[in-house]
Amino acid sequence: MTQMNFTDKSKKTLRVALVANGKYQSKRVWHKLFQALRDEDKFYLTKHHPDVVISIGGDGMLLSAFHMYEKELETVRFVGIHTGHLGFYTDYLDSEVDKLIADLREDKGETISYPILRVTMTLSDGRKVKARALNEATIKRIEKTMVADIKVNGGLFERFRGDGLSVATPTGSTAYNKSLGGAILHPTIQAMQMTEIASLNNRVFRTLGSPIIVPRGEKIEVVPKRLGQYLVTVDNKTYRHKDIAKIEFDIDRKKIQFINSANHTGFWERVRDAFIGESEE
Ligand code: NAD
Repeated sequence: MTQMNFTDKSKKTLRVALVANGKYQSKRVWHKLFQALRDEDKFYLTKHHPDVVISIGGDGMLLSAFHMYEKELETVRFVGIHTGHLGFYTDYLDSEVDKLIADLREDKGETISYPILRVTMTLSDGRKVKARALNEATIKRIEKTMVADIKVNGGLFERFRGDGLSVATPTGSTAYNKSLGGAILHPTIQAMQMTEIASLNNRVFRTLGSPIIVPRGEKIEVVPKRLGQYLVTVDNKTYRHKDIAKIEFDIDRKKIQFINSANHTGFWERVRDAFIGESEE
């Protein structure tokens, strides 16, 4: 991962952080941006408390950038340049670096923001582990079937048996959630979506079998009924925890903010481009 590390210049207008993945093309874009922004008074390049984070890579890099600055979400706006093949969080192609620079010069602080997920794990010794997800969080039992009670707003909804569960944000609905048969949600909808991962359904065991979409302000709680090792993923990060007492999900008070430019195309256009492509007349 390429990051800046220098201290010169203090005539700040827009504090900009550049983060890139290790791909050759991403490093090239990083250097081009670095050289262009460094010489303009409008910009102050710094990785500390930036106003704008430019993520160079793909969706995975934007997820990493989000986690690097997740404690500063109120003050940071993100923008993604993609040097890969598919971009849901990336608004600019690597051939559009000059356009991004021009847009940043004209920046009036316009933003577009989307909900993120709050994840609170309580371990069996009472310790709490908190995380935020931009795409989704999942829980799986490492060995044997996961058995867990699912509560919605404190009330028992069902007893789940299967591989695990995923809870996705609206912007994450096009990622793992989609592969699990979840619906695609417009990202302005303030809700989270729970999907089952290979649930057991037969004459003895029964789950709803459909994804559920739960609005902001409501809470999903997963209470594992067996001791053991659990795998919890939060976007592109993976944690192993022993004996999870419960894991709670709700929509966070904070949101992720993106720079709103003409390149921030409509959501349904992105969905069509990514999954359907050009249609033949
Ligand atoms: P990765 O680089 O292998 O990413 C997997 C793919 O998911 C990439 O093509 C990426 O562009 C795409 N992607 C990421 N976020 C997206 C989004 N919001 N909408 C549409 N596509 C999106 O792996 P990574 O960088 O570690 O990314 C982690 C993400 O990969 C997870 O958050 C999860 O959503 C996704 N994932 C998907 C599956 C699956 O579909 N079966 C399995 C595991 C993880």
